[in-house]
Amino acid sequence: MQEYIMALDQGTTSSRCMIFDKKGNIVTKAQQEFDNYYPQAGFVEQDAKEIWDSQLSVARTALKKLGDKAEEKIAAIGITNQRETTVVWDKQTGEPIYNAIVWQCRRTADKCEEIKSYFDKIKQKTGLRIDPYFSATKVAWLLEHVPGARERAERGELLFGTVDTWLIWNLTGGRVHATDYSNASRTMLYNIHTLSWDEEILSLLHIPQCMLPEVKNSSGLFGETDPSLFGRALPIAGVAGDQQASLFGQACFTPGEVKNTYGTGGFLLMNTGNQCVDSRNGLLTTIAWGIDGKITYALEGSIFVAGAAIQWLRDKLQIIGDAAETEEIARSIPDTDGVYLVPAFSGLGAPYWDPYARGAIVGMTQGTERSHIIRAALESLAYQTVAVMNAMQEDSGMELTGLKVDGGASANDFLLEFQSGLLQMAIDRPACIETTALGAAYLAGLGTDFFESFQEIRDNWQMDLHVEPKMNPEERERYLRGWEEAVARVCMSK
Ligand code: ADP
Repeated sequence: MQEYIMALDQGTTSSRCMIFDKKGNIVTKAQQEFDNYYPQAGFVEQDAKEIWDSQLSVARTALKKLGDKAEEKIAAIGITNQRETTVVWDKQTGEPIYNAIVWQCRRTADKCEEIKSYFDKIKQKTGLRIDPYFSATKVAWLLEHVPGARERAERGELLFGTVDTWLIWNLTGGRVHATDYSNASRTMLYNIHTLSWDEEILSLLHIPQCMLPEVKNSSGLFGETDPSLFGRALPIAGVAGDQQASLFGQACFTPGEVKNTYGTGGFLLMNTGNQCVDSRNGLLTTIAWGIDGKITYALEGSIFVAGAAIQWLRDKLQIIGDAAETEEIARSIPDTDGVYLVPAFSGLGAPYWDPYARGAIVGMTQGTERSHIIRAALESLAYQTVAVMNAMQEDSGMELTGLKVDGGASANDFLLEFQSGLLQMAIDRPACIETTALGAAYLAGLGTDFFESFQEIRDNWQMDLHVEPKMNPEERERYLRGWEEAVARVCMSK
């Protein structure tokens, strides 16, 4: 009786495994942290073997927790992963030629500068802005800097993969070299219109096409695990990058549906259906998923500092003991009394895109108290979200139908009430906020007929909190105007 789906959730700081039942409940889970390495300023690396070992280890632990012959009860495996992180390895030996270069790594900033005359062309083809964040220049860096790598790659001896691909390759004992549409769309090498690796970008960066994985549907069979790993060959049947998986896990299947993950940073994704919307407001255009060859596109906007602003109150200003306190403190005052905190600690992302902006607290008077600053920090998560949602609305011309939330700071009911008021839109928080792993499980379940339809998944989505907007319109106008003025004061780019 195969009653469960196993989701492998390979994140930036830990590998996790969650086993879900048919209702989308977590039956058991395991987690293991691993190291990030910072060999010099702006460089971030991981050991690809540690990624694989930790992921295998948590999968085995979760199976063991499930009990005897647990592998018999698993219908399929779904994979979700930190996106853009780049691994290159030897096809014969499986040895990575270098550490994995992590999405946060800025080492290829010069390379990006060098190719900036291709900005419009690359944006048109890939939906992305040229940035070190994406895999393309990371692969180019490896081929340039690891001795002999370019020749080996050209001889067809090396393989490239994002973390999903690296895991699939190891899980299948080196038999399958594949990725899914959502991960491919984050490489800056993939043409999201023609659905093919882009020869022009590959040749611009001198990347041989033979290194690249086959791009497959996000839901459907990728391959089977080597029987030696879990005692039985298990089908890998769903793959998506973490933010896309969470959009799926939130059951945002209809164009216009948006999810926001309020974590350390904030990640908003909007389903735009079969429309590949070009952004004029600094959002990324990306593939949400491909199922049965049918592509669903998304607009994505990231907020660099979301929950991190709350961490900053705790760890640097030391004016709170823990993040959850902020809710009661925010509720203890009627408003911030005109104080705004713009947490542009590392510049501002969409839709402002100002790498030189720095944080500020504005509007203070002699009467400003600790509570005003705390509330202003919390509200900054909501204001930044409004800015991204407005950009989504404007770019897509679609009516946004509501917002579904998850991530650590979505536990804050005050934040959601304030957010709903600013947006004049209802907000829903699901009972299961592990939406990333859940999305991978759903994709794998659909790929093996464990789940029969999208509707079955939608029916599984359970409400924890529903918030209706309550702010009065004049107040809202005043708040939003104040925020835009505060942002204008911190922006440095002309
Ligand atoms: P990530 O996955 O990005 O590491 P999480 O989704 O675990 O992050 O969210 C953690 C973030 O949420 C932290 O930055 C923390 O400050 C913030 N956070 C957690 N609980 C609350 C809360 N009740 N109110 C406001 N922020 C919170």
